Amino acid sequence: MHPVRFTNMKKFLILIVIPFLPAANACAQNSDEINDPEKTEIWEPQPPVVEPVEVHGEPPEDAIILFDGTSLDGWEAMDGSDAGWILGDGYMTVEPGSGDIKTRQHFSDVQLHVEFRAPEEIDGEGQGRGNSGIFLQNRYEVQVLDNWENPTYSNGMNGSIYKQHIPLANPAKRPGEWQTYQIFFKSPVFGDDGEVEKPARVTVMLNGVLVQNNVEIFGNTVYIGAPFYEEHGPAGIRLQDHGDYVSYRNIWVRELDEEIRFKDGIWRDPQ
Ligand code: MG
Repeated sequence: MHPVRFTNMKKFLILIVIPFLPAANACAQNSDEINDPEKTEIWEPQPPVVEPVEVHGEPPEDAIILFDGTSLDGWEAMDGSDAGWILGDGYMTVEPGSGDIKTRQHFSDVQLHVEFRAPEEIDGEGQGRGNSGIFLQNRYEVQVLDNWENPTYSNGMNGSIYKQHIPLANPAKRPGEWQTYQIFFKSPVFGDDGEVEKPARVTVMLNGVLVQNNVEIFGNTVYIGAPFYEEHGPAGIRLQDHGDYVSYRNIWVRELDEEIRFKDGIWRDPQ
């Protein structure tokens, strides 16, 4: 190499490249951290195991039946085509790889009843065992997971608001047994500027045990990074295809009309 050129290259390295190396390295670390799903996992504390109880799931007279075990007509794939899940005798099962499905009908505030079952034969562990999910308004996931003697991060357990709220208890049933969610959901309110004015809130019972007590939802469920809100209106209830043969039955919803308690936007004071 020509001596002058060599000197120039050395100067280039010393003056231009080397000072930026630590910054470049820090940048790479930051972006690794941002892209790391483990950064939003919480493993401690683990909720106490509580014996589940039987819940009777008869729909009240004003309930809208979303799935009665005989037809997938009320459901569609995410692209609007027919739902590709397997219809069994009185239940439906995720067809792995066919994608999530959601109700054709859109909802705001609801009381929601869902029964689900993880495969009886245990296959996989942690998040890879009986994983599915119920996305309220197509965005906010109440996790469905086989948590019978299957540890995982607490804020990703059955009964969690995925990566937002740890469940208060773990009333898991054995794989292969039907379990029941009773969900009470208040949808978010957005201002004229599209910013969230009142965040969504949710209360969740799992197998007769309270697991979420009127918690605030922080935004769309995300696997990596922080949840965020995006303005939306009424939306479908989505069930997740996470690659496991999770089954569902007896799904119904009651629409909750808050206006009953208000007159012209003013709270009706019983006095
Ligand atoms: Mg899930």
